[in-house]
Amino acid sequence: MTSSRPAISFEFFPTKTDAGHEKLLATARQLAEYQPDFFSCTYGAGGSTRDRTLNTVLQLDGEVKVPTAPHLSCVGDSKAELRALLERYKNAGIRRIVALRGDLPSGMGMSGGGELRYANDLVEFIRAETGDHFHIEVAAYPEMHPQARNLEDDLANFVRKARAGADSAITQYFFNADSYFYFVERVRRMGVELPIIPGIMPITNYSKLARFSDACGAELPRWVRKQLEAYGDDLQSIQAFGEQVVTQMCERLLEGGAPGLHFYTLNQAEPSLAIRNNLGFAR
Ligand code: FAD
Repeated sequence: MTSSRPAISFEFFPTKTDAGHEKLLATARQLAEYQPDFFSCTYGAGGSTRDRTLNTVLQLDGEVKVPTAPHLSCVGDSKAELRALLERYKNAGIRRIVALRGDLPSGMGMSGGGELRYANDLVEFIRAETGDHFHIEVAAYPEMHPQARNLEDDLANFVRKARAGADSAITQYFFNADSYFYFVERVRRMGVELPIIPGIMPITNYSKLARFSDACGAELPRWVRKQLEAYGDDLQSIQAFGEQVVTQMCERLLEGGAPGLHFYTLNQAEPSLAIRNNLGFAR
C-alpha cells in the first residue's frame, strides 16, 4: 500500500481461450501503467481453473510485474491439493493470497470432496502451512452473504476469519455506500481492525449486472435499475450513467475513510480506469 494515495487493485478471471488470455494480458499491461498495489486472479471452486489461475498469476506477477494474488477456495479441494498450490505460489515468490470458501457448481454437493468447510478453516490452514509468508485477504459482505441466516451471524463469521489470521478484506460489490460504512462500524465494535477494501463493480451492461447481482446478493438500488432499464440497448448511456454513479459512490467511500478500492475489471481496462481517473489519482 502506498502512503500518498488509497490502495488500488484490479481483479481478473482466468480465460478459457488463447485469444481471451491475450486480451487479459493486454488489459493487465494497460492497468500496470497506473502502478496498482496488486492484481488478483479468481479461482474456480472445485479446482476448475487450477492450472489457468496458477499460470495467469505467475505471468502477471513475473512478466507484467505487478504483485499478483491468486484467489484460492477450499470448498472442493483436498488439503493435499491446497498444500501443493500454496507451495508453488510460495516458491514463485507470491506474497498475497485471497482465501475463500467458494461456491461449487450445483450438483457437486456441499463440500465437493473438500476437507475444509469455511473460509476461516482455509485461513487457519494457510497459516499452519506457511506461517506469515502470505498476506491473507478474505471476502466481506456489507449487504450480507446470500446464504447467511442473518447479519449478526454473518458478522460473527467474518470476525472468525479475522481471528483465524486474515490481514485484510475485500468486499463483495455494492452500490450503497451506507452498507459499507455500517459493516465497517459493526466490525470495529467487535474489536477487529483489519482494513476492509470496497470491491467496485463498474457498470457496463444492465442485463448481465442484474443477473449477477441477484446471484451474489448485491442490491441494485431501484432508481439505478430503473434508469438503466430505461436506456434499453443504448450502451453508451448505460456506461456514462454507470460511471457517474460508481464514481460518486467511490468519492463517498474514500471521504468516509475506505483505505482503497478493488476493481472487478471483468478483464476490461477502460471502465475501471475511467472511475479511477475521475477520482483524480496521480499515476
Ligand atoms: P465464508 O466466509 O466461509 O462464508 C460463507 C457462508 O458461510 C456465509 O454465509 C457465512 O456467514 C457462513 N459461515 C462462514 N463461516 C462459518 C462457520 N465457521 N460456521 C457456520 N457458518 C459459517 N468465488 C469463487 O469461486 N472464486 C473466486 O475466486 C472468488 N473470489 C471472490 C473474491 C471476493 C473479493 C469476494 C467477495 C467473493 C469471491 N468469490 C469467489 C465468491 C465467494 O466464494 C462466495 O461468495 C462464497 O459463497 C463464500 O465465500 P467466503 O469465502 O466468503 O465464505
